[in-house]
Parts: sequence; C-alpha cells; structure tokens
Amino acid sequence: MARQRKIPFGYEIRGGLIQPHPQEADAVRYIFGQYLAGASLLAIAEDMTRQGIRYHQHTAEWNKNMVKRILENAKYTGADGYPRLVSNGDFTAAQGQRAERNTYAPLPVEIRPIQAKTVCGLCGGKLTRGARSHGRVHWKCQNPDCGQSTSLGDEVLAQLVTGRLRELAQAPHLITAPEPQRGGLDMDTVRLQNELTLAFNRGDENPGYIKTLALAAAAQRYNQLPDPTPAHDLEQIRARLEYGPADTEVLAALLAVAVRAVRLAPDKTVELELVNGKIITEKEESA
Ligand SMILES: [Zn+2]
Repeated sequence: MARQRKIPFGYEIRGGLIQPHPQEADAVRYIFGQYLAGASLLAIAEDMTRQGIRYHQHTAEWNKNMVKRILENAKYTGADGYPRLVSNGDFTAAQGQRAERNTYAPLPVEIRPIQAKTVCGLCGGKLTRGARSHGRVHWKCQNPDCGQSTSLGDEVLAQLVTGRLRELAQAPHLITAPEPQRGGLDMDTVRLQNELTLAFNRGDENPGYIKTLALAAAAQRYNQLPDPTPAHDLEQIRARLEYGPADTEVLAALLAVAVRAVRLAPDKTVELELVNGKIITEKEESA
C-alpha cells in the first residue's frame, strides 16, 4: 500500500482523518515493547523485515534508523493531534534507554570475572574497560608511561579468553600450584635480620629505627610466602577436567583459581598467566 510520506508509520488517512493503521499501529506498539524488553535496534529491524511489514513502499528491508525514528517519534503519544499508540510512560522509558545505551554499554555479567584479571599485554599495568556509544569497548592501560588502548568487544574478548581456557583444560598437567620458595631466606632478608640484630645489640639505636627494620624484615618474609591460591582447589579442578567435560562451569572455576592475569595486547591477542607463572598463548593457526 502506497502511503503519503507526510503520514508517519502507524497511521493512515481514513474518512479525511488521521487514524491508526491497524497492522502498523500494532507494529509500533510491538517495537516499543521489544525495545523496552532489551532488544537492540538491529534485532528489531531484522524482526520487522521477517514479519514482512513495510516501513515504506520502496523496500521490504528494515534498518536500525527506521526503528530509531519510530522510537523517537512523539506523535505516537498523541502529540500534534495524532491518535495515541503508546503510553507516555513507555515513550519516556524508551527515550531513557536510548540515552543510556548511547553513552554507556553496561558491563555484562560474563565479563566481570575477566575484567578483574585483565592486564596490559605490554607492561602488565591495570587495564580499565571503557564503553561508549554503540557498544564499542576500549581497554585502556592505566600506566601513564604505556597508555595503550585496545578496542575489543565484550563478546570477542570472552571468546578469546574461553579459547585459552579450553586449551588449558586440555592440558590439565599445567594446572599446578606455584612452586614453593626453596632455599629459605634470600640475601635481602638475611641482611635485614642481621641489621636488626646489630641494632638490638648496640642498644643505643632509637626505637623508631628498630621498629622500621622489624617491619621491613616482616614484610620481606611475607613476600616470600608462596601464592595463597589453595593447591586443593587446583587439584579439584584438575580432577574434574580429567574425568568430566570442560563445561562453562569448570572453565569459570579455572579462570577464578588457576589464572593470575589475562594479558591483552594491542594486536588483540590474549594470553593467560597462570598462578604458577606459566603462560597460555594463542596456538598458531594454520593459514
Ligand atoms: Zn601498558
């Protein structure tokens, strides 16, 4: 049906009056409902094309802009003398979501455990995730001397990390606890201990200096403790991988317990640094 351009989608002229077009008015309400339920502009456009409803007579294809124009058109609330198709509440909620989705792509639940461990592949600095318009996600190194920024969508990052975790899951012998410190105290600790003993024996040192030495010696000893990751948890995961499938749950546990850092490089490669210091890199792909 050819429609005059001046009449927005959803309406028709009947008996000289602007009236809701039965099928299109339903489509308008459907679009608002889908969008408020969380569907993307693109998903709705594809949905409308599948339903075979035409936005205008020139094409059966819907695109994101058509959906966007419908969501932004206040006439559907009864403005400018048009019959109301959607409630003010739904219209306002849709505008709110438009603003929110344009400026901020919320952190998806499945990215949270990855984000917590993601570091710069160049310098090891902390990466922060910034999400701006249209779901474009950047990971920016917080080390001012580095400052590299990698543009990588959440889904792609999750796929890359999952790929590395699957490789790790196929090599359970790599899932081990960190090597315990061997050979007792290192030289710095020995030197500090000697200095502390001397200070005590001299008896004329000021108490502040002795306290500083004692704290430094304690910190040294603490730094030498092996990684606190429970070897028991690693053992359990290894056993599960040897006797069961590497399902999502096991991979999540693997990330939580066996991985110290997810290293993201500017060329969008992802490496896993394990708690035992081993590195899981991308396998060479045959071209
Ligand atoms: Zn960096």
